Amino acid sequence: MAILKVLHFPDPRLRNKATIVKEIGPDIKEIAENMLDTMYAENGIGLAATQVNIQQRIVVIDISEEKNEPLILINPEITKLEGSESMREGCLSVPDYYDIVERAENIEFCYKTLDNELVTVNADGLLAVCVQHEIDHLDGKLFIDYLSLLKRQRLKKKIDKQEKQQQTVL
Ligand code: ZN
Repeated sequence: MAILKVLHFPDPRLRNKATIVKEIGPDIKEIAENMLDTMYAENGIGLAATQVNIQQRIVVIDISEEKNEPLILINPEITKLEGSESMREGCLSVPDYYDIVERAENIEFCYKTLDNELVTVNADGLLAVCVQHEIDHLDGKLFIDYLSLLKRQRLKKKIDKQEKQQQTVL
């Protein structure tokens, strides 16, 4: 078990594009386990490899109340998008910031399991939002990219201020 360091916006490494996992070997299993440990430790419901500075297409999700239904998605891909829905989102890489994002309401997505099986799933609600949010991470995209320029500028100012305050504490 290992807790990985989660990158925070505006770290440029969050803009990296993850590459396809070619072979699901023990190294990928270990990364997925560590990502789950990290997600649970940080109280998140989803984590993409990009957020822990690993450039491979791996996502972990657990939207259950009891936090006992982990989903590990290798090479996840959205195959259908339908409707639209607005939900308040947050992100482990953008701490203490939440905002409404519009996304597709119903999706179909496929992924490979750690046993190399191809699975196709239809999802709506929180799972659909979460999968779209996490796959965006693998493509170097953050939920705040969907916000207006004004909101993003305000957020940037807030973060710059926090960073300055942290420096003064030293
Ligand atoms: Zn996120």
